[in-house]
Amino acid sequence: MSEPHRFRDTQETLYDFTDEYLVVCPQCSGCAIVRPIDPESISYRSPRRVTCLTCSYTKDWHGDTIAIGRAVDAYFGLPLWLQIEVGDGIFWAHSDRHLQFIKSFVQATIRERSEHSGQGWRNQSVISRLPEWIKLAKNRKRVLKAIELLEENTKPKPQR
Ligand SMILES: [Zn+2]
Repeated sequence: MSEPHRFRDTQETLYDFTDEYLVVCPQCSGCAIVRPIDPESISYRSPRRVTCLTCSYTKDWHGDTIAIGRAVDAYFGLPLWLQIEVGDGIFWAHSDRHLQFIKSFVQATIRERSEHSGQGWRNQSVISRLPEWIKLAKNRKRVLKAIELLEENTKPKPQR
């Protein structure tokens, strides 16, 4: 790496990455997608639907509370499709967009923070809540390798 990679933490939280989850289908173990039922209504509390890309499995969620910050989706509690063991920890991401966001941070040799465009300084940003081992420069290569393995799984094709 000759050019320094620069990353600016603009205080996105996990709630900013609830528009799409890739999860493991409870019926066939293939890849399923969790998205808002109404694409116009992308608030993290709006109803969700999980749809399997391989089998016919589908289910809707109309709840009040969500559980965020674990290696499962916040609505149905299904295991995330994008998760992998790295040393003693588990690296996980909600979606390809979330994965790319974390990747740009891990790659960065210059890390900065700035206010969120709409809400200023926020607690619980994705970056501030990453486990310490993901943030350590000495683990950069190992974590990037794991991210690359997961990238191969972000465009799952239906089985024939
Ligand atoms: Zn399925």
